[in-house]
Amino acid sequence: MLNTDEKDRYEQKIKDLRELIDISKSLNSNLSYATLLDSLLLTCMGRAMVVKAGLFIRHNIDSTDFTLYRNYEGFNPDKNVDFAIPEKSDLIMSLKKAKGCLTMPELLNDIRQISDIKPFTILEPSLIIPIVMKKDLQGIIVLGERITGTGFSDEEKVFLRNVADLGAIAIHNTFLLEVSSTDMMTHLKQKHILLQHLRDLFANYNGENITILMMDIDHFKGLNDTYGHSFGDTVLKEVASIILKNVRVEDMAARYGGEEFTIVLRYIDNEVALKIAERIRSTIEQKEFIQNGQIVKTSISIGLAGYNRETDLIPVDLIERADSALYKAKENGRNRIEVYEF
Ligand code: GH3
Ligand code: MG
Ligand code: MG
Repeated sequence: MLNTDEKDRYEQKIKDLRELIDISKSLNSNLSYATLLDSLLLTCMGRAMVVKAGLFIRHNIDSTDFTLYRNYEGFNPDKNVDFAIPEKSDLIMSLKKAKGCLTMPELLNDIRQISDIKPFTILEPSLIIPIVMKKDLQGIIVLGERITGTGFSDEEKVFLRNVADLGAIAIHNTFLLEVSSTDMMTHLKQKHILLQHLRDLFANYNGENITILMMDIDHFKGLNDTYGHSFGDTVLKEVASIILKNVRVEDMAARYGGEEFTIVLRYIDNEVALKIAERIRSTIEQKEFIQNGQIVKTSISIGLAGYNRETDLIPVDLIERADSALYKAKENGRNRIEVYEF
């Protein structure tokens, strides 16, 4: 016979396991990196009963630092503090090896370079949870002070580490999806992802506005020929970064080909889409690149077309109309926007 204490403990364990299954289902149903990270952070905060928490993660596919993820909760980070932790630091090595969660004193015991933990200290951490998969660190959750004012029990630590391990698998899956769908050079989506996105939008169409912008850098061949291919690459990356800064999460920006880009905009009318296109065009026009001490400028031509359910049966129908507007923009002198008119 179990005594009451043992029975309570087993009941808690069953409850924890059920909760872990639910958390796993919810984390793995997230295909978007951003919503996955948010839900992982919020799950840990709720369970740990803390109001402050931060998540350190590789910001990009090719980053060599772990940086504070934008959606930290409950504190205002000092803009002057550098929240980057190099992946080769002592701290990251320690966290990779850690079997469970760590308190600050435990962590301090383990590392030689105290300055490494500076990015953590602002959170006054009560617990640090490494997110590890196959011995590789995917991220670090740092929890602030507990509402209860108490420490964490061993069971709570095990539970939180289990949540982080489930999170690691989900992060790894979305990371793979992100890598296979992203153009490594520009960090924009690849063409086939954009085409699939349009197919999905057409198939589940609810009457919302869909607008596409086809963009092509002007006289880019000349830029390559005059200043070299590597300078051309710098311009491509900068143009892509300007495009990315001007799209919202509900939009999609892709590298359609060499120096051609496409944006799918949703829920906005032609007038607003034109304003976005104009902002992109003028930002690129104003950007000054320096090559051999010389200022070099570039520009982009843009074709805009709105989705028409009657005529646009497959993505290419819409793209071809935006392309013909782009062709007109080139013909009319480049560095301008033309709208497809029926
Ligand atoms: P237009 O204003 O008519 O668009 O002229 P353009 O010179 O931009 O047009 P064109 O299509 O002839 O040239 C595109 C050039 O883009 C040719 C190709 O070498 C270059 N390009 C494509 N991909 C890359 C890349 O990844 N890096 C660099 N540096 N150049 C690229
Ligand atoms: Mg081109
Ligand atoms: Mg071009």
